[in-house]
Amino acid sequence: MTPETNRHLRQCYVGIGSNLDNPLQHVNIAINQLKQLKDTTWVGVSSLYRSAPVGPAGQDDYINAVASFHTNLEPEILLDKLQQLEDAHQRVRIEHWGARTLDLDILLIDNICINTSRLTVPHPYLHLRNFVLIPLIELAGDILINDTKISKLITNCPSGSLDKL
Ligand code: ATP
Ligand code: MG
Ligand code: MG
Repeated sequence: MTPETNRHLRQCYVGIGSNLDNPLQHVNIAINQLKQLKDTTWVGVSSLYRSAPVGPAGQDDYINAVASFHTNLEPEILLDKLQQLEDAHQRVRIEHWGARTLDLDILLIDNICINTSRLTVPHPYLHLRNFVLIPLIELAGDILINDTKISKLITNCPSGSLDKL
C-alpha cells in the first residue's frame, strides 16, 4: 500500500460464522482470504468459538471468530468483497438466519455510523450476540461502541452457549 492510500485507512472488525459443510474449514479458509483482501492491512483474528445457533431450529452449532484489519476500501465496496467471499463458499440464501457455509458481517468501521439500504454499521445485532462480543473484546480490548464499553454490552447480552475451541 502506498503512503497516499494509507491516509484513508480505517479500523474494521468483521464477524465470521459458519455452520454448514465443515464449518471449521470454511472459517479457516475465510480467515486466509480476508488476510489477502486488496487495499487492506491485516491486524489479526480472535480465538475460534463454537456457539449454539440462533434462528430456525435444527441447525448445527456455529464456528465463530472476529477478524481485524485496516482498510481504505469504501464501506459498501468492502461489503461487496465480503459477499463475493460468501458466494465463493457457495453460500445459498434460503431462509433468514438459516444454516450457511459462511457469513461475513461488518461489525465496526472506526467509530462511524452507517445506515444505508445495504449496510448498517455498527452491526445492528452486535449487542445481542455473545458470539460476537466475546471474540471482539478479546481482539479489540474493552473499546466503546456507541458510547458503551463492550464489557457492559456483554453484561447485558442474552447468554447463549459459547465455547472457545
Ligand atoms: P444478521 O445481519 O442478523 O447477522 P445475516 O448475516 O444472516 O443476518 P445476511 O443474509 O448475511 O444476513 O445479509 C443480509 C443483508 O444484510 C446483506 O445483503 C447486507 O446488505 C445487509 N447488511 C446490513 N448491514 C450489514 C453489515 N453490517 N454487515 C453485513 N451485511 C449487512
Ligand atoms: Mg450475520
Ligand atoms: Mg451476514
